[in-house]
Amino acid sequence: MLSAPMQDAFNEQIKNEFYSAYIYLSMAAFFDDVNLPGMASWMRVQAREEAIHAIKIFDHLLDRGARVKLRAVPQPPVEFASPLDVFEQAYQHEQTVTKAIHDLYAKAIQEKDFASSVFLDWFVKEQVEEEKAALVIVEHIKMVAEDRPGLLVLDRELAQRKGGTETTATQATT
Ligand code: MG
Repeated sequence: MLSAPMQDAFNEQIKNEFYSAYIYLSMAAFFDDVNLPGMASWMRVQAREEAIHAIKIFDHLLDRGARVKLRAVPQPPVEFASPLDVFEQAYQHEQTVTKAIHDLYAKAIQEKDFASSVFLDWFVKEQVEEEKAALVIVEHIKMVAEDRPGLLVLDRELAQRKGGTETTATQATT
């Protein structure tokens, strides 16, 4: 059985993960609007992964006999200045998520909830990948700067991310 503080913290993290999905979905909509379908596809895949993270925690709570209490998900940003702005915000967001995961891990240790700390190992590692992935794209966008053909090449590259079947299906057939 989870302690009340752990239960509360995990319920909050479910909301955080769904908020991440919301942010990335909003970013996907922006990229679709500015005709960068590869980046839109990348963001859709990312949004789906975040929803899976939320469900992993949801299942952990249920596995431990705890009560899931879904919280209101805040409205994500809607307007973005540029593709660089989007990925810089994504990178900043992942750093915030990393801190939330680390706080959760620290709480698990404090509560002597070792089943939860082991469960959270996956998330700690995942955050290393999340930050790295966002930062690499930020740096690549900076490299192409105002070079529009370069941005289109990058867009094609990001379309290759696996899982983006909906938006890449049309590209695959052309
Ligand atoms: Mg996540």
